[in-house]
Amino acid sequence: MSDPSWAIVRRAQAFVVEAPLLTPFRIATGQHTTLENVFFTIELANGIRGYGEAAVASHITGESVARTRDNLKKAARACEGEDISDHASFLKGFREAFTGNHAGLAALEMAVLDAWTRARGIPLWKLFGIRPAPLSSDITIVIGTLDEARDAAAAFFRQGFRVFKVKVGRDIDLDLQRVLAVSRVSPQARIIVDVNQAYDAAGTLRFLKALKAGGVLPLLLEQPVPRDDWDGLAAITHAVKGGVLVCADESVKSLADVRRAIRMKAVSAVNIKLMKSGILEAEAIARAARAAGLELMIGAMMESSLAITAAAHLAAGLGGFRFVDLDTTYFLKGPLSRSPYLDGKGCFDLADAGPGIGVVPADRA
Ligand SMILES: [Mg+2]
Repeated sequence: MSDPSWAIVRRAQAFVVEAPLLTPFRIATGQHTTLENVFFTIELANGIRGYGEAAVASHITGESVARTRDNLKKAARACEGEDISDHASFLKGFREAFTGNHAGLAALEMAVLDAWTRARGIPLWKLFGIRPAPLSSDITIVIGTLDEARDAAAAFFRQGFRVFKVKVGRDIDLDLQRVLAVSRVSPQARIIVDVNQAYDAAGTLRFLKALKAGGVLPLLLEQPVPRDDWDGLAAITHAVKGGVLVCADESVKSLADVRRAIRMKAVSAVNIKLMKSGILEAEAIARAARAAGLELMIGAMMESSLAITAAAHLAAGLGGFRFVDLDTTYFLKGPLSRSPYLDGKGCFDLADAGPGIGVVPADRA
């Protein structure tokens, strides 16, 4: 560390990794049948490496794997020979190149912060706080038949999960039956409903009324209406005040978006994802939301263990995340599904975490 050249980037590269999923991950706007993410690695002059991952969700963000790969390849060339010791200024210099490609930006930031914290011998969460909060993830029940929802919820309950995020938005009557079926898995089951923009405000309120008649009050309702329907979000939030929390996901992708949500009192919670905004802006969004009294959720696209663990470091370090939706590795097969800090029932424990993120992409170990 005394050698000032430690922080010079010797090499950087971007590459695409594909992996099969255990089951298709279906939501209202589309589905993932495989994981196809872009990884980014940098190697410092002292031999320390950092790893980043872009989970490209084309059906949600409109980004493509090809463009993310090209942007990261360009960034790799631009990184080489540069000094990352002032990581914040270094990363700021790349923001413009990643306009409209925040998954790519997240991968670059992740690799640089991973290398920097590895070089300093500290876990990533220490960049964000003084002690890591424990995190316990929900598990997603993807769009499918009534039987599929019931069977998946029962299996995940046996595995130890107690919070279920039910994806809805293809068929409102079936949605209702599926949510009721999941809630009947156990009296301990707690329910989050994610509509992924598929309803309108009036339909959402009818849906909540029907759930109530069935004896179910979800903890949280995520993105019930299209992302630009701020008035719809605000109307729902006002109508259910004191009941279910209304959470923005697709509506809030930036600091400007969360400020708008706060100004309009449009929601009572925000889902923060590294892939929507990059890591540093995700931190800023979380701090702004928390200061305004909004509940926080940490979420994900289709990250493998590297990026999901990076998200856990951010949430654990910042603290105050009442909702944790970091469950994508349970839909993956093989080494990409394994994080050293995550158990079989969604609990991250970073209390004894080693340097950096702590995950090396399987084929680069
Ligand atoms: Mg969502």
